[in-house]
Amino acid sequence: PVRVRFAPSPTGPLHIGGVRTALYNYLFARKHGGSFVLRIEDTDQKRFVEGAEQYIAESLDWLNIPYDEGPGREGNYGPYRQSERQSLYQEYVFQLIDSGWAYYAFDRPEALEAHRVDHEKKGKTFIYNWHNREKLDNSLGLTSEELAKRLDSGEAYTVRFKWPKDETLVFTDIIRGEIRIDTNTLDDKVLFKSDGMPTYHLANIVDDHLMEITHVIRGEEWLPSLALHVKLYEAFGWKAPEFAHLPLILKPSGKGKLSKRDGDKLGFPVFPLQWEESIGYREAGYFPEAVVNFLAFLGWNPGTEQELFSLEELVDAFSLERVHKSGARFDPDKNAWFNQHYLQSKPISALAGEFVSLVGETYPGDYEDGFLLRILELMRERAHFLPEILESAKFFFVRPAEYDPKAASKQWKPETPERMEALEEFLKTVPEFRSAELEASVKEWIVNSGYGFGQIMAPFRLALVGALQGPHLFDIADLLGREETLLRLRNAIE
Ligand code: GLU
Repeated sequence: PVRVRFAPSPTGPLHIGGVRTALYNYLFARKHGGSFVLRIEDTDQKRFVEGAEQYIAESLDWLNIPYDEGPGREGNYGPYRQSERQSLYQEYVFQLIDSGWAYYAFDRPEALEAHRVDHEKKGKTFIYNWHNREKLDNSLGLTSEELAKRLDSGEAYTVRFKWPKDETLVFTDIIRGEIRIDTNTLDDKVLFKSDGMPTYHLANIVDDHLMEITHVIRGEEWLPSLALHVKLYEAFGWKAPEFAHLPLILKPSGKGKLSKRDGDKLGFPVFPLQWEESIGYREAGYFPEAVVNFLAFLGWNPGTEQELFSLEELVDAFSLERVHKSGARFDPDKNAWFNQHYLQSKPISALAGEFVSLVGETYPGDYEDGFLLRILELMRERAHFLPEILESAKFFFVRPAEYDPKAASKQWKPETPERMEALEEFLKTVPEFRSAELEASVKEWIVNSGYGFGQIMAPFRLALVGALQGPHLFDIADLLGREETLLRLRNAIE
């Protein structure tokens, strides 16, 4: 059975690249009736951030792409936090040392740095492998007595992977196809640190093996590690999973990789944490369906014209074979377009609760739900986000205190007050104060009174809204009601 995992390090809020990785893993698991595992890779204690794990779990739940196994959802492969699996990794590193795939290294960081600088001066890159191993301070040149003595004395060490010389590695990535790497270019990576903690590489491979992961789907930034990972499986004598490296996400300009800093401007995290001040997608008014929909297209397409996909449809349509190699441009306008679609197509009842509470926070007052829902219905047509409606619908809740000066100087003439007074009188007598009826009677009155439509409608709108924008004028008057409409007219006249 297919088993995939999302393996974030809890170092801060989940950003959009991570969420995309999670989504593609989720879609792949669902499509193949498999399991989606959340594994927390928290071996790097220095970068650990309190609350980040909970944040990740909540983000996935909010997006409706929950994990089947993971912290708090124990399956048969736990624990799911690497910090709780720590005791497990040591035996594997010894296994590699015994079989000659790994060795102890005692080099101090300063010594390595000196070698690096020295190489740089000669225009070379320092690589810790057969090129330099002999000159360095490791167990390869030591007798077993010498080694035992140094280990017994408590000297700090790391364990490094021993790359073979002069090999060309050939392996396949589902998205990138065949990849070839010359081992002479590879560093003997550290697998284990003297603090008893494995590095990412070792823990990741051991866990993927023990958790019986069948497909590793992750960001392209891990591609440089692939050679080591594939070789580690060989060294352990384990069958490697299949690999799929997802394309980079590019800045809106298409130039360069989207960074966290771009993200802050784009409302990048799913939602903010207390420590993070920037607002997230959720607060910006994105629906989880829209985020899922636009993320799905960041690196994949169905090969048809269809752009709007529910999660179920994505599960059906998704395949790793259709994921692109080239970078995917992050397009905030397109993302907003997706959200607009969901804003228009959701039933009003699904939006009502949130809208009512947003209005309550922004314009405290005693409104009837019916009134608020009619505003929502009317205003959503032009909006991309629910919170945006609070701005565009402000005039329903707050009487205009001033009038757009540019519009007023054009539309509010010396004769206007007199005309508005006439309109006022007429409106008092209109039998049905409802949009359609109101429109018919006011238009008839305008014609009968010999006014031009513009002479009445523009100042009337100015009086109700404070500006010349907004939805259909008679819908506004209808919603405001006769009393409020007359009051606003009077305010404008005076
Ligand atoms: N812990 C790694 C990360 O933070 C996981 C990479 C992988 O999926 O192998 O992205």
